[in-house]
Amino acid sequence: MKTISKDSLDKIIGYLKYKGYKVIGPSVRDGAIIYDEISCIEDLPAGWGDEQEAGHYRLRKRNDGALFGYAAGPQSWKKFLFPGKLKLWEAEKNSKGFEITPANGQFPKYAFIGVRSCELHAVFIQDKVFNNGMFSDTYYNKIRKNIFIAAVNCAEAGKTCFCVSMKTGPKAEEGYDIALTEIINQDEHYFVVDEGTPKGSELMEQIESLTSTEEQLAAADDALKNAESNMGRTLETDGIKSLLYKNHANTVWDQIAKRCLSCANCTMVCPTCFCSNVEDVTDLSGDHTERWRTWDSCFNLDYSKVAGGNFRTSIKARYRQWMTHKLASWIDQFGISGCVGCGRCITWCPVGIDITKEVSNIRKSLKN
Ligand code: SF4
Ligand code: SF4
Repeated sequence: MKTISKDSLDKIIGYLKYKGYKVIGPSVRDGAIIYDEISCIEDLPAGWGDEQEAGHYRLRKRNDGALFGYAAGPQSWKKFLFPGKLKLWEAEKNSKGFEITPANGQFPKYAFIGVRSCELHAVFIQDKVFNNGMFSDTYYNKIRKNIFIAAVNCAEAGKTCFCVSMKTGPKAEEGYDIALTEIINQDEHYFVVDEGTPKGSELMEQIESLTSTEEQLAAADDALKNAESNMGRTLETDGIKSLLYKNHANTVWDQIAKRCLSCANCTMVCPTCFCSNVEDVTDLSGDHTERWRTWDSCFNLDYSKVAGGNFRTSIKARYRQWMTHKLASWIDQFGISGCVGCGRCITWCPVGIDITKEVSNIRKSLKN
């Protein structure tokens, strides 16, 4: 392990830019921590943390100047790999008929700075969705293979986090080029760095660093233990697949449906949800047409509309489908749970519906 100063992180960003990466990292915008292009460490959310609860998110000032002292915000890295709105192709009318031009000839080379362990797992899950042997999404895969990932281990857990239950954090174990642990004590602010790939080692050769001391490694371990022991939520996953399959008719779904607005916020913020719609848009002259893919949601009524009718007309059916897919049928479909325990769906649900509580409510209902 190597130790670098806080200022060396700026050199890492600079080196990645020099190597042609579009560097993406956390920034404060509109009262939240979002992911966008950054050019130096001044763009990072220095001294900002957050308060999260079901249906509640506020930024709060920290007194330690931490650059990564926040929990997962409303956005996830999926917005770069699986953009919310993507043009697939366009067509122009000509004397012989139509000429079709594929869009997205541009595949940005991204460097992601500050990827949390749960978010890395969300990327692994989307890898199975967008590149699974049967289906392969060109845009996703062209971008995915060139990403540089600088993970950041969590030193604190958010109040809606439950990555320990889902075995997806708080320590980044694989899939990164480098992993950083931020340490701040009375007189020092530094990062312990683990190199995960030759690409990560090549970068670290360019950055001034020292071999980490025993104390620095112990401080990094303590930071992770702190996050692990302060998880805001837990989700009991034992037997969860059969629990949900066997409780299709449980009255808990009726209780949830009385509160759920079917607003789709939970699916928009979820780093693994992948529902999309494809629309053709033609100009008034009829000479030019475009095909766009946009994010959609199983909470939208039209999503379950097929020839002959709609097979999920009630909010109860749509919530039940979402949670059962996430925690049960996803396992049958992709061999893995669809939930990484990031807590975003809890924080950003306007009525504070909490996936961990609803699983617990189903379990409790069976004991009554
Ligand atoms: S669970 Fe919450 S966020 Fe999801 S659709 Fe219902 S009201 Fe919206
Ligand atoms: S279901 Fe909720 S907690 Fe699980 S990955 Fe999606 S947003 Fe995060």
